[in-house]
Amino acid sequence: MAGLLRVGLIGAGIQQSKSPLLHMEEARAQGLPLSYELIDLTARGLGPEALPDLLAEAEAQGFAGVNITHPCKQRVIPLLDDLSEDAAQLGAVNTVLFRDGRRIGHNTDWSGFAESFRRGLPDVAFDNVLLVGAGGAGVAVAHACLRLGVGRLWLHDADAARAEALEADLNARAGAALAVATPYLASAMAQVDGLINATPMGMEAHPGLPVDVDLLMPRHWVAEIVYFPLETALLRHAKSRGCRVLDGGGMAVFQAVAAFRLFTGREPDAGRMTAHFARMTGG
Ligand code: NAD
Repeated sequence: MAGLLRVGLIGAGIQQSKSPLLHMEEARAQGLPLSYELIDLTARGLGPEALPDLLAEAEAQGFAGVNITHPCKQRVIPLLDDLSEDAAQLGAVNTVLFRDGRRIGHNTDWSGFAESFRRGLPDVAFDNVLLVGAGGAGVAVAHACLRLGVGRLWLHDADAARAEALEADLNARAGAALAVATPYLASAMAQVDGLINATPMGMEAHPGLPVDVDLLMPRHWVAEIVYFPLETALLRHAKSRGCRVLDGGGMAVFQAVAAFRLFTGREPDAGRMTAHFARMTGG
């Protein structure tokens, strides 16, 4: 079809992704013919080593760009011609644009979290923050915390080496001892203004809590990045203790808002995409 903008998502096990509907519904509302296609490694029986071929295939088919997810966000970097400054610093890409024979990598995960946080918890104290989970998403959230002007970022991960590696990377970038990896959740919680969960704890497949709820005080704010379900056990407990909370839906929506802008060159209606996401997730 003439004028059809093709975009997609490359990753493993992505059949439940909300991205196709989120992008296509916004495009439809703008009168823009757009198809968002899932390029699912799992469904095709492929491993991540197929990424170079899948990327080349999408480019050859005239895609405007693709989103990239697990397990390809780092792996895609050597396949690109250029990176945004933030993607280069973070070392992860979730959006690739194909432009004039060049492939340009961006990261809208960090900006998605930052935008959600600015809107959802605009006036909270941000001097001392605890980030639990230093995996792929945790690295993006840590970058967002830097950009949001965190004073000190405490990092905790069940895999201590991951928290330590992120600490070293953030401090090298900040040129200061801004990040502190810690195995001690209780003493960190006693010192921080708020807590961000970037572990999978709270998902249906990973029930449980990233911190003991007895450590939550009403003065803490609590931000989630898990968004399925939108109300995790952590958020439920936090609310019942009087904490201000932010669910993970905003990060998911605002990473898509920024990717839509990059893919189409048009300004998406963030309110409309938020409302659509809420309808899809029953939020
Ligand atoms: P990952 O596997 O790369 O990293 C998870 C990290 O959490 C690992 O380092 C692991 O050691 C650590 N961890 C697990 N359980 C822990 C615990 N109990 N205490 C401390 N550390 C623990 O996963 P990821 O890609 O970073 O994703 C994490 C979660 O973020 C997933 O649930 C995913 O759905 C969610 N996510 C949400 C968004 C969004 O837009 N809202 C975006 C990306 C990821």
